[in-house]
Amino acid sequence: MEDSKDKKDKNRDGDYEKYCYLCRRPESKVGKLIYMPNNINICQDCMQKTFDSFGGSNMQFMDLSNMPNMNMNQFTPVDDIPKKQKVKKRKEKEEKKEEPELTLSTIPAPHEMKAKLDEYVIGQDYAKKVISVAVYNHYKRVLTNNMDDIEIEKSNMLMVGPTGCGKTYLVKTIARILNVPLAITDATTLTEAGYIGDDVESVLSKLLAAADNDVERAERGIVFIDEIDKIAKKKSTNSRDVSGEAVQQGLLKILEGAEVEVPVGAGSKNAMVPLTTINTRNILFICGGAFPDLEDIIKSRLNKQSSIGFKADLKDKYDKDTNILQKAVVEDLREFGMIPEFLGRLPILFTLQSLDEEMMVQILKEPKNAILKQYQKLLNLDGVDLRFDDTAYHAIAKQAMEKKTGARALRAIIEEFMLDIMYQIPRDDNIGRVTITGDYIAGKGTPVIEMRGVLALED
Ligand code: ADP
Repeated sequence: MEDSKDKKDKNRDGDYEKYCYLCRRPESKVGKLIYMPNNINICQDCMQKTFDSFGGSNMQFMDLSNMPNMNMNQFTPVDDIPKKQKVKKRKEKEEKKEEPELTLSTIPAPHEMKAKLDEYVIGQDYAKKVISVAVYNHYKRVLTNNMDDIEIEKSNMLMVGPTGCGKTYLVKTIARILNVPLAITDATTLTEAGYIGDDVESVLSKLLAAADNDVERAERGIVFIDEIDKIAKKKSTNSRDVSGEAVQQGLLKILEGAEVEVPVGAGSKNAMVPLTTINTRNILFICGGAFPDLEDIIKSRLNKQSSIGFKADLKDKYDKDTNILQKAVVEDLREFGMIPEFLGRLPILFTLQSLDEEMMVQILKEPKNAILKQYQKLLNLDGVDLRFDDTAYHAIAKQAMEKKTGARALRAIIEEFMLDIMYQIPRDDNIGRVTITGDYIAGKGTPVIEMRGVLALED
């Protein structure tokens, strides 16, 4: 009995380590400790400070390991040190599972990539297909590295789609699938160098930060520039267009592939910040925007085309078309205010659909990390079964559609009504099941609550 207790204590001691008597830092931080009589351990820093305070400058460079009676190797075993002089070691970082790096053999084929996207992103089939093929080709080009005779062009992309339809989410998911660093920036913060705002290089600083300052990893990353429609050329050009056309001009160089000097760990260059060089040749740029008035531009182009000759159509034919954005072509974007050189560097243009009520319901139910599933899991930890009936899903989706901010509205609505549930349920241990109904979402009723005892009887 006694023996096993001893053993247990010893095992537990493996989790403990010695720390410095003066500065209280553990051995894993300060290096080997110097053992002094009476079970006192002191780190080299503190020992040096002590000598400094005695002897001033002439004792500064002594090598402590050669001091008599201070043999660095002469330690008491950790077990013999009283517990109060030990601190618990931090859990080793290695426990974090490292995702494998992307290689030519591990890069998923387009259909596999799309299947993985399907687990998270609802609808947007066309966009998922385009992005899977483009990303696959891009990384094949990057990882092969021998493009001597046939130079494959970069597959930078331009995504057009209403707000909240999943543009950012799609890019985030693809970066996670591929395990490549991703930087998401907003084009509205960018200005021409020298003006207040971020230079275009700041986009690359973010990528570098996302890659843990590993330049090689950053050079294979993805940059997503959101709100790209906000840097369209201004219509009246009396003054200098520092946040519109000039930013497009500035981006040209990095979109194409260039050696760019990038500040490390800061958004802007200044004398105090170290610089490093990043080659953007293999960085995939994806731009996204809602392009609010693009529909009118497309309509007027289509009307113009169809008002003459055999194909003549009714003038208002396209007015009712809700997915008119899908007919966008480069010419429309140029009309919108994007400069041709900029569009030329984003060869893949595609649009995302606006979400309808049915898709919203699917977003609530299906994705692997659907927000309602997260709440279910949370309550499950308290032993409560949270359910939603079909009317509830539709009621939430309907409310979200009214807000016209796409799937973004879902979260706000859910959080509002879940607040009460999350507050009240843990109060009562007897609650076994809560069912949310459409009436409750519409503010007309209460959720259906079933007690544990009753549920047990039913079983
Ligand atoms: P935007 O198109 O404006 O970039 P986001 O991608 O940021 O919109 O979408 C906001 C949130 O809405 C996402 O974080 C995601 O949870 C959800 N969402 C949007 N579209 C979809 C979709 N098609 N499938 C699943 N979730 C979506």
